[in-house]
Amino acid sequence: MFIKRDHTKLICDVGEITGLFHDALSMEEFLQKITVMVTRHMECEVCSIYIYYADQHELVLKATKGLNPDSVNTVKMKIGEGLTGQALKEKRPICEGQAKNNPNFRFFQGIGEEKFESFLAVPILRGSVEIGVMVIQSEKKDYFSSEDIQVFRAITTQLAATIETARLLITLNDKKEKPAAPVLQNLKFIQGRCGSEGVAFATTMIVNESLTDMQQYVAAGGKQYNETDLHRAIEETERQLGALQVKLEATLLDMTALIFTAQILMLKDKGFTDSIFSMIKRGVNPPQAVIEVVNDYVTKFTRIEDSYLREKIYDVKDVGRRLLENLTGHAQAQHDYQDKIVIARELFPSDALKLFSQKIKGIILLSGGATSHVAILARSLNIPLVVTNELGLLSLDSTTDVLLDAYMGYIHINPDPLVKAKVLQREELNHNISGLKKMIREHPRTSDGVGVKLMANINLLGDLKAANEFKADGVGLYRTEFPFMIRSNFPSEEEQYLIYRRLVEGMPGKEITLRTLDIGGDKILSYSDYGKEENPFLGLRSIRLSLKHTDVFIAQLRAILRSGAGKRIRILFPMISSLDEFLQAKSIVQECIHQLKTERKEFIQNPPMGVMIELPSMVEIIDEMAQEADFFSIGTNDLIQYMLAVDRTNDRVSQMYLPHHPSVLRALKKIVDAGLKAGKEVSICGDMANDPKYLSLLLGLGIRCFSMDARYLPRMHERLRQLSIKECEKLTQEILAQSQISRITQILEHVHYPA
Ligand code: PEP
Ligand code: MG
Repeated sequence: MFIKRDHTKLICDVGEITGLFHDALSMEEFLQKITVMVTRHMECEVCSIYIYYADQHELVLKATKGLNPDSVNTVKMKIGEGLTGQALKEKRPICEGQAKNNPNFRFFQGIGEEKFESFLAVPILRGSVEIGVMVIQSEKKDYFSSEDIQVFRAITTQLAATIETARLLITLNDKKEKPAAPVLQNLKFIQGRCGSEGVAFATTMIVNESLTDMQQYVAAGGKQYNETDLHRAIEETERQLGALQVKLEATLLDMTALIFTAQILMLKDKGFTDSIFSMIKRGVNPPQAVIEVVNDYVTKFTRIEDSYLREKIYDVKDVGRRLLENLTGHAQAQHDYQDKIVIARELFPSDALKLFSQKIKGIILLSGGATSHVAILARSLNIPLVVTNELGLLSLDSTTDVLLDAYMGYIHINPDPLVKAKVLQREELNHNISGLKKMIREHPRTSDGVGVKLMANINLLGDLKAANEFKADGVGLYRTEFPFMIRSNFPSEEEQYLIYRRLVEGMPGKEITLRTLDIGGDKILSYSDYGKEENPFLGLRSIRLSLKHTDVFIAQLRAILRSGAGKRIRILFPMISSLDEFLQAKSIVQECIHQLKTERKEFIQNPPMGVMIELPSMVEIIDEMAQEADFFSIGTNDLIQYMLAVDRTNDRVSQMYLPHHPSVLRALKKIVDAGLKAGKEVSICGDMANDPKYLSLLLGLGIRCFSMDARYLPRMHERLRQLSIKECEKLTQEILAQSQISRITQILEHVHYPA
């Protein structure tokens, strides 16, 4: 008989995993502690971790609770061998109620497995990359339920990145140099593009570039240190990293990705610390030894092809800087990212989060890696971000003052004091929260009394705070892909359920619209192995991917439906290009409803199901679509990109990205008319809804529901009160009659708003 255990605690409790680092003396000990934790939570007697070594095609037992400890490092098996090897080969869990009866069961002499009956092996994977296998066993027969399998998968997913780092640290080798950055020639001002609004004034710090700045620790005072100083520095660094992780978990509940554990692991890596200590024994001053070992690791990491693993360069440099800081006590030196404007060729979402936790002031992202998902994330994290092509910025030294006016996309280098004063003054006004709250009205309406819904777009759960503060009427768009982007593997149904439930409970009584996964285009998962695409925006993106990989889609839909039990949620499908796709997506929802009913789970029975209108192919079939969909949500970001053939992430064509292009406006008119005629709500959730300049035009088209980044709610409340629907309709009619962009630009520039 299966016993129902409370698993939800384990899945969320990253703090507990982080805690395991504290008194672990080595990586092996850390893995050992994981096995103890897992046996406790899964209420079983055995947990073992096998690491996969790809060059030898071999799985090696690295830690076990419950089996003979002498088997560690000696029990080895080929991929496909035994049930453990089979789990990795077939990339699926293998569960046996009486393992010994399975002909594929492999018995190892002396391992102490004889008395265990139930067996559950789950592969540890990052996308298709094999990292290892985690196994649990129990003396009782038929002990593990299907729910246990799900939960155990979730645990391995959570641990995959950490275990991968541990493995990587053991198997590093070799080198390759990086090309030098071009020199910035007397540049004073750069016009970039706004990725996330805000202003920052600070000196800069370049991510993932030269390490020469570390030499200052050695230079500073030229003091001699000893081994005890280094031990103390290691301890302090570990404590700081643990604290950072805890802080991050508190602010970013949905992003509990064990971000700093990779760095703690580095400190635990015997190869890393032993190399430093052995240099010290040879007479090298500890700061210099740290620099040399860090440099050596950076060189090794640089050589790795996989861009996700190359990301570890950031970790090793960061650990090096912290160690040096704690060793030499030069906390104020120009080395940390804190209070800096960070310049990066390319950033991963997890980098942005790490930088956020170090209280950076702003980001300058150099094109090539100019991906708007980092920009959207930066907005949620309130970090000003400007995108530019100017590679010369990589040669800025760390003492140069930079003023980032991300509202305008301006980068001022050593700015004129007057310019600086003006920009900072304007920003102070923007940040006056109590002033902003005064702009908010309980029931937003126009000057002639027409009610309008002003909703929030949510990317991270942290956005809920501003959404509630500014009294959003609900969530018009929750981009579910963000928790997917930060992880090292697909989050399980259970993990997703917990995130969505927090979202739904975060705005009691209000309507929450969850959009299904919109991966692809510029939103790439480091672990997905769906193949590189020449033209990802026109590729296997969004609903196309969900409909192709129905296992991922079904897990998400089940999590969404369950999170909606007793609440007001709606499901929104992105990138729908035909009626057929929408009907197919709806039928999969029905299938999930049927499954959940059979399983007697709690879930929402009849959630409204809507369509993102963001592809031009929707416009000609919009009337039929309006019959089928419960609501429309217009995604202008993509609609404009696809109608005008202008890549929304390409700086070079950004001047052609025009929301007020007559074709776009006429398409919007058709969409709104069709929706309203069928009695369906039509809302807008693309960035066009953020811009007060377009509010009267959109109201004039008949839109009465707007969903935007929460920070824009106050100014929209304010603007809304100044507008009458009658005036808006007149303006819209005039604009729709135009066929030239320039004429429409002129009209919009001359719209007069009463004070
Ligand atoms: C849009 O395309 O307008 C939209 C809201 O979706 P995303 O920006 O996430 O593609
Ligand atoms: Mg879109």
